[in-house]
Amino acid sequence: MSADLLVVGSGFFGLTVAERVAEDLGLNVTVIDQRSHVGGNAYSAPEPETGIEVHQYGAHLFHTSNEPVWEYVNRFTSFTNYQHRVYSTHKGEVYPLPINLGTINQFFRAAYSPSEARALIAEQAREVSASGVSNLEEKAISLIGRPLYEAFIRDYTAKQWQTPVDQLPADIISRLPVRYTYDNRYFNDTHEGLPVDGYTAWIERMADHPRINVVLSTDYFDESQPFNKKSTVGQIPIVYTGPVDRYFGYEGGALSWRTLDFEQEVLNTGDYQGIAVMNYPDSSVPYTRIHEFRHFHPERDYYPTDKTVVVREFSRFATRDDEPYYPVNTPGDRQSLLGYREMQDAEPDNVWFGGRLGTYQYLDMHMAIGSALSLYSNKIKPYFQR
Ligand code: FAD
Ligand code: UDP
Repeated sequence: MSADLLVVGSGFFGLTVAERVAEDLGLNVTVIDQRSHVGGNAYSAPEPETGIEVHQYGAHLFHTSNEPVWEYVNRFTSFTNYQHRVYSTHKGEVYPLPINLGTINQFFRAAYSPSEARALIAEQAREVSASGVSNLEEKAISLIGRPLYEAFIRDYTAKQWQTPVDQLPADIISRLPVRYTYDNRYFNDTHEGLPVDGYTAWIERMADHPRINVVLSTDYFDESQPFNKKSTVGQIPIVYTGPVDRYFGYEGGALSWRTLDFEQEVLNTGDYQGIAVMNYPDSSVPYTRIHEFRHFHPERDYYPTDKTVVVREFSRFATRDDEPYYPVNTPGDRQSLLGYREMQDAEPDNVWFGGRLGTYQYLDMHMAIGSALSLYSNKIKPYFQR
């Protein structure tokens, strides 16, 4: 099958574009991936001893308020009614997250009403004036005051990022809501859930199309294989979802990323921590959080009742050999990125960059899918229709 479009990367971004071009335009798409499986970081597989589904590149929770994205993803999977909740163990005591009235009252050993709690936090946040917020620390203190910041955010963030807080963008922390009610749902979105028969079934259904040809274990920069950069740019339209700095041979400097190490263990108990995610914000604990994967699917009655799978998560700087997970986005990175944007503009107009790695942006799944749908309708479809 000759290809009308080459997609580099079989994550949600690449597969969404591939599926649209194959299904909507009736064109042939080749998707390559350097990994031995499709799905990018959302890939999951059953742990062999227990059958418990483990997300192989870190826990993935689907949530969105974007109606077109919700409609689109429901073509490939249905979702459970799972609602994400996270707890945090600080100095030997368990608190609910995100910071809410329950966290505040437990932490201050009080019974504040919503307005009393607001007044207290406003008082504690006064050291940072709203207009003066320029980094993660100031943003966090402006939202929750210094005592809660020091207990739940400061040392967790130090473990997660190992970057001076004044170099970290404030929007990292804006992802977490702060509530003056007892509502401790982690996400605010209209739709939330986990794919009923797992992420891999969902992803494989997207790729399973007679006009989509998936080629795995194939690196775009390996010139011994036919779909490499040198022999495809300018020859065939390309959607590239790998790291933008690698595409340009790191000419504009290497962008910095955080990676994660996962320590996985099967334990002889049916329930280790009673919840899917427990965070550890104290500096005395080396990991940031523990996932217990069975709790993502309480509806699965075939999971064993005497065994469980836990995964401890450790964060560190990524070298070029590591999986790039979180863009650090320091002022230096943002400078380099401007250079890469100019290099992208100088590429042929049928090379499109997208996804988390291709744009150096932390994108949730619904954002990656949403931006792939937009790229398809605004650029790729008009290109082929011309
Ligand atoms: P990816 O999934 O990274 O796919 C890119 C693909 O390109 C990869 O398969 C890679 O192998 C391939 N590739 C790269 N370079 C090359 C090359 N040279 N040649 C061939 N192939 C190449 N989102 C949520 O909505 N909820 C969550 O709870 C959530 N948790 C996350 C936790 C972690 C630890 C991480 C890292 C991400 C999380 N995400 C979450 C984000 C989610 O993973 C992304 O939104 C989604 O994977 C983006 O898809 P993508 O296609 O842009 O990138
Ligand atoms: N964060 C924190 N303490 C927590 C949870 C989160 O300080 O208990 C901060 C931390 O800087 C983290 C950011 O909030 O990087 C975003 O948290 P989220 O849970 O959204 O991170 P992710 O699941 O993407 O790793």
